[in-house]
Amino acid sequence: MKDHVIVWFRQDLRVKDNPALQAAAVAGQPVIPLYIHSPEDEADWAPGGASRWWLHHALTSLTEELSGLGLKLVLLRGGAENVLSTITDQFPISTVYWNRRYEPDIIARDTRLKKRLREEGLTVETFNSALLYEPHEISNKSGQPFRVFTPFWKHLRSLPQRGPTHVDTRTLSPATLDLGSLDLAALDLLPKIHWDAGLQAAWDPSIAGGIKALESFVNEHAERYKAERNLPGVNGTSRLSPYLHFGQLGPRQVWDATVRAELDSSPGGFTFLSEVAWREFGYHLLYHFPHTPADALNSAYKNFPWVPDAQQLHAWQTGMTGYPIVDAGMRELWQTGWMHNRVRMITASFLVKHLLQPWQEGARWFWDTLVDADLASNTMGWQWTAGCGADAAPYFRIFNPMLQGDKFDPEGQYVRRYIPELSALPNRYIHQPWEAPGSTLSKAGVTLGREYPERIIDHKVGRDRALAALQTNKSRHD
Ligand code: FAD
Repeated sequence: MKDHVIVWFRQDLRVKDNPALQAAAVAGQPVIPLYIHSPEDEADWAPGGASRWWLHHALTSLTEELSGLGLKLVLLRGGAENVLSTITDQFPISTVYWNRRYEPDIIARDTRLKKRLREEGLTVETFNSALLYEPHEISNKSGQPFRVFTPFWKHLRSLPQRGPTHVDTRTLSPATLDLGSLDLAALDLLPKIHWDAGLQAAWDPSIAGGIKALESFVNEHAERYKAERNLPGVNGTSRLSPYLHFGQLGPRQVWDATVRAELDSSPGGFTFLSEVAWREFGYHLLYHFPHTPADALNSAYKNFPWVPDAQQLHAWQTGMTGYPIVDAGMRELWQTGWMHNRVRMITASFLVKHLLQPWQEGARWFWDTLVDADLASNTMGWQWTAGCGADAAPYFRIFNPMLQGDKFDPEGQYVRRYIPELSALPNRYIHQPWEAPGSTLSKAGVTLGREYPERIIDHKVGRDRALAALQTNKSRHD
């Protein structure tokens, strides 16, 4: 029987711009497209509930795309090292192709696997599908990793633009071997109780959905991105993050579409590309500082005097802190699996500063509830907010939830959408209902502590406590 090649799909769940698939097309041997569900390999960072929901639909979509090319996606489950060794022992496979990932546990596993397969006489070739430039390709003038975004971005911009990979689908030939495949349902990715209606209403998690979102953003929103990207009540950002995380779209496709629309030097397009570069920076940091998903990059924050409190954490998670912009964000997250970037910063800051909860607790909650949960971006976002990461916001800069609300949601559009019980409050009180006179509250049908909670902590008290904790931490290190 003719030797086959495996294309092992991981976080690159697309056909277009897929270098591993293109390598198989060039090889011209029969192709087995394979997906292995192996949460055990992800150690502490197996996909959370919202990610599993997305993954289920992304696999459905990939199955359909491949089937249009005459290829059948094989689904298996188990530790990837065992699964691949068993297959390559049993079947005539000459080569395994995959696109690289950058999470520390996955790098370790892939390195072992590559060595083992090569020792067994197989060819293994791996590619970059997930980043514009990989972390090992980029360093500062002293040959060190970047720790500050602006020079990183300047450097990235100076490098030649790499376009998407053309996949010659005509030369992909179907497998003649039958490895057996699980049904998608056997991967158990969908929730047992139906909490996913909000996700379904908010998203089209298919590859086509990603391409449509990219086109719509580039054609209709990119020009206004700079002005609107901080307004959570407005549809001003691309919402491409889950498609990028699962590799249904690659950053080079995104970059290329922006350049082709001649938007790259417009204020909106340029700012948008700089945000795509933040994603690259997150991967740069994760790769070079692999301890950061668990521990502060800045070791001075390693033993920060947090005050863990399960009740306060729960109030934050469920959107019941009494601060409307914080609660709206947490409810948007729970309902749709996504939260606007400005509000991610506000809610994260509130948890670590006002409530003094460890940033790792917030990162874990986001991990379980975001459809775009991504170890690199999530770790960077939380450490940035907590003030303990690379190029972080200084700890003493504490977001004021009322001012943030007034500035970025001045008419309370966003708060009203996610906290309907406050919808009849006038704009001037929408971000601070406790300031409203009793008659205004009762006219709006709100009794604080009944329809909507009282504040969990006074802003000034929370702020002063956070600054005192910073001082304690500093004196421990001086
Ligand atoms: P757009 O504004 O349209 O930006 C385009 C793309 O650029 C995004 O899809 C994303 O891939 C990238 N991007 C934009 N902003 C950032 C950023 N600050 N950091 C890294 N990449 C960025 N993003 C995730 O993808 N997964 C996460 O798990 C995640 N967790 C976060 C946690 C915190 C506490 C914070 C503050 C931010 C986090 N982000 C995360 C970054 C950012 O909030 C999201 O990428 C963004 O909101 C996604 O929406 P969008 O696709 O409309 O972004």
